[in-house]
Amino acid sequence: MEYDCGFNTKLLHTRTGRFPNREILPPVSQVTAFRYESMEELEKVFLHKSMGYAYSRIGNPTVTAFEQRIQELEGGAGAICCSSGMSAITAALLAVCESGDEIIAGNCLYGGTIGLFHDFEKIGIHIVYDPDMTEESIQSLISERTRAIFGELISNPSLKVLDVPKVSRVAHEAGIPLIVDSTTATPFIARPLRMGADIVIHSTSKYLNGGGNSIGGVIVDGGTFPWNFEKHSAMKEFKKYGKMAFSVRLRTDIWENFGGCMAPANAFLSYIGTDTLGLRMERICKNADRLAHALDHLEGIQVSYLTLLSHPCHEEAKSLLHGFGGGILSFRAGSKERAFHIINSLKYACIASNIGDVRTLVIHPASTLYIQADKEEMEAAGVYDDTVRVSVGIEDIEDLINDFTNAVVNTTGEGDGNENRCCR
Ligand SMILES: *Cc1c(COP(=O)(O)O)cnc(C)c1O
Repeated sequence: MEYDCGFNTKLLHTRTGRFPNREILPPVSQVTAFRYESMEELEKVFLHKSMGYAYSRIGNPTVTAFEQRIQELEGGAGAICCSSGMSAITAALLAVCESGDEIIAGNCLYGGTIGLFHDFEKIGIHIVYDPDMTEESIQSLISERTRAIFGELISNPSLKVLDVPKVSRVAHEAGIPLIVDSTTATPFIARPLRMGADIVIHSTSKYLNGGGNSIGGVIVDGGTFPWNFEKHSAMKEFKKYGKMAFSVRLRTDIWENFGGCMAPANAFLSYIGTDTLGLRMERICKNADRLAHALDHLEGIQVSYLTLLSHPCHEEAKSLLHGFGGGILSFRAGSKERAFHIINSLKYACIASNIGDVRTLVIHPASTLYIQADKEEMEAAGVYDDTVRVSVGIEDIEDLINDFTNAVVNTTGEGDGNENRCCR
């Protein structure tokens, strides 16, 4: 994967993993402020004339350690951690847009992102949805006011794969940056900056943390986009920073003022979670692939997963994601009742509104994550009334296959099937 060594080696031995007292992990700087010996010293920090921390909303060494790790994994030039994935998406887009501007966005988006885009409309930032996100469709939607193209590398649960090399080419010809939410892919499966994206976003709450113990987000700037400050007038004060203007605008302006910083304790938890990212993703992808193939043989359900030949994005997954399908699969059960019954009959999978945990999680998206969407929006996102979403964990695959097979085979849609659940 284009590192000078393997993924796990790179991850565990990043250049920046060095700390002041030779700690093997970043110490948790659980402080609000930093003390200085003289006013002159603190003034220099505020004037950016010397490196140093002043106040944890603006910078904190534990958070810096996590930022540097993700920056290196993604191959970026700068990274900024945020209080959540939503906070990262908000800050990144507000950094490049002003009222009156437009964003072209793929429509199989995360529910929270769709909600945010409704809010953007109210402050005059217009979202132009593109269900196809192909070179041609994007080309036809680009206008004088387009300031960003935004998409998810692997949408969920529809598992549409964004063709980053092609989309970035169209974006760049029009002088527009491509911003990719790569939460479901992780740098283990793909590195969008290397594929042509300009900015990458993760909700670290999911696979990067992996243990389901803290909310967080990160924005990684590739540092290669040639900003045109006439077009991106929201960033014009940062012109002197050239290709790093986005990072500086974020850090010293939008992100700092907006106040969506990551807590030091969460940065520490996410840092240690990331230690096992490669190991977990390898296992999760293998489990998901085996579970999808096992379920695909059963009657009466329709399985969707990227390594199945039947998936419309199978070929893209092969070429862009190195054959990996990620950790999310879904199936249609025939009816909402049967979907609920199957979910309730599972012994191991937890019913929870999250993805990317080491534990297998299941949910009925239509009645939870998409409760605010209308039928049309839901179906555009690949969610139907009978869809069950599974975020596959690291359990022993035989147990997962047995659990899901029993639930599907023994479920006709009657009764509630709760008798099997071990976590109740
Ligand atoms: C969860 C998620 C988000 C939002 O992240 P939070 O950390 O919950 O704010 C954004 N995009 C995708 C693809 C997600 O899965």
